Order: sequence, then structure tokens, then C-alpha cells
Amino acid sequence: MLDLWFSEFHAPDAKLSILVKEQLYSEQTPFQKIDFFDSETFGKFFTLDGLIMITEKDEFIYHEMISNVPMAVNPDIKKVLIIGGGDGGTAREVCRFKTVEQVDMVEIDERVVRLCQKYFPQTACALDNDPRINLIFGDGLKFVQDAPEGAYDLILVDSTDPLGPGEGLFTTEFYRNCYRALNDKGILINQHESPYYKEYAYEMRRAHKKLASVFSIATVYQFYMPTYSSGHWLFGFASKGLDPVKDADFKRWSEFGLQNRYYNPGVHLGAFALPNYVQEELQKE
Ligand code: SAM
Repeated sequence: MLDLWFSEFHAPDAKLSILVKEQLYSEQTPFQKIDFFDSETFGKFFTLDGLIMITEKDEFIYHEMISNVPMAVNPDIKKVLIIGGGDGGTAREVCRFKTVEQVDMVEIDERVVRLCQKYFPQTACALDNDPRINLIFGDGLKFVQDAPEGAYDLILVDSTDPLGPGEGLFTTEFYRNCYRALNDKGILINQHESPYYKEYAYEMRRAHKKLASVFSIATVYQFYMPTYSSGHWLFGFASKGLDPVKDADFKRWSEFGLQNRYYNPGVHLGAFALPNYVQEELQKE
């Protein structure tokens, strides 16, 4: 019997490969190709257009980092907008904060949600049973354009890479609309690629410049994500005035009493202590 390996290129001559126990499902939707696999080391995982979205083994890292960082900077967050995030992991983490009152989640591809509810029930669980979540199927770009001014405390852009349906979520126009839809203490977090391989670093830099042209505070923070390109991955942090380090209120954050596996206050501070080469990448024209 031949071994079946899933491979994702991270650079033209570097790739991550995972030995597949079984291909569980495959479908071409109007937006993208979805594949579900099972493996020994990473458990189940799924890909969109051949790129890994989540694996059972490491999704907690991404989802804790996208949600806990802004909640520590502003523990009063009540109204949240998630763009993308079809696997439900971001919604699950946001809903662990009992003070959050409303989570609007706008996902362009309903098939991602339905299939994740089937294959990743532990990730998609909040989408089935948390009454605070309003699930909307549509383009996040258009949704934010039409959103009322100052409607949200937090926008989380849990998107695919800047190609295909996710491309518009990396534009200045989209960031401007997010700015308008956020209130005065509003925070935007977005999927911000990797600083390491040059193709990803280029996209990271472009996204950063655009974000910094709209928000008075715009930076990136890092975390270790084993199955993403190079393992060194970033989120963007942008706000109208809150500083991600100086304004972090760990005392109030700890009152949420969460049992995390990755995020803690030390990780928060370290995430914003960027290596020199990342700082240099951000400053390049
Ligand atoms: N954690 C993942 C990562 O960084 O690879 C992202 C996960 S989540 C599955 C990404 C989702 O963004 C996909 O389900 C995709 O359908 C959705 N998406 C892409 N473009 C979108 C858009 N314009 N509006 C709303 N959702 C979008």
C-alpha cells in the first residue's frame, strides 16, 4: 500500500507534509475546495484550496491568541464581529467570556460551517448552541461596509490568505470600513500571515502598511503555530487608542477564570516583543 502524504508548500522549495491516515471528505464549493483528512500526529485537519486551516492538535493556539489578547486589553468588550472563522473556533473562544453579549459572525461559505459542524464538533460547538451568536452567510467585505458606525467593540478577521474570497479582507478600504464600524475603544485583530518566508513576509508587510494608514495604533503579535508556514505566525492588532501592552489589564482578565492551554499574561507580553528581523520587515518600504 502506498503512503498518502498531504503537502503544503511554504516556499517554492520548502513544504510541510503530514502522513494521511484517511481522506474523510472533499468538495468544491462556489468559493473554494474543501478537504478533510485524518492523521496520527495532528488528528483531523481540513484545508481550503490546499492550505491548512485547522488541525485538532494545534487549533487551540490560534483561537486562544485571537480572542484573549483583545479581551485583556479591553475586558469590557460586549459586541463582537467575526469575519470568516467558519470552523467556529474563534466563536467558541469568544463565547468563553461570559461578559460578551453579542457575536455576529459573517462567513462567506456556508459549506465550511456545515462540514466543520460534522467533522470538528469540538471546534464548531458554540455555533450550534450559544444564543449570543448570529450566524450570517455573506461577504464580510460588504457586511462591514453596511455596518452602522461605532457598532462593535471588537472585530476579529479570521480569514483565509489574501487570495480568492479572502483577498478583499486585506485592503485599505476594508480596514477603513472596520474603523468606522468600531466604537472609540474599538479593537481590530486580523490574520496577518508569517514574517519568515519571503512570499508571506511580503503580504504581512503590505497588510501592516495599510492597517497603519488607517488606525493610530497598529502592530503585529506573534505566536507559534506548528502547521502554518514556518510555524511563526502573526495577528495584526489595531485600535483607535488602546495600547496592547500598556493598556492590558491582566487583573481583570484573570477574573474571567479561564483554563487556557497557551495564552497567559507572560505570553501576551512576549507576543508583542518582536524579534529584530520582524521589526525590520515591518519597516521596509
Ligand atoms: N484559522 C485559519 C487560517 O488562518 O488559516 C482561518 C480559518 S477560517 C476557516 C477562514 C474562513 O474565512 C473560511 O471559512 C472562508 O470561507 C472565510 N472567508 C474568506 N473570505 C471571506 C469573506 N470575504 N467574507 C467572509 N468570510 C470569508
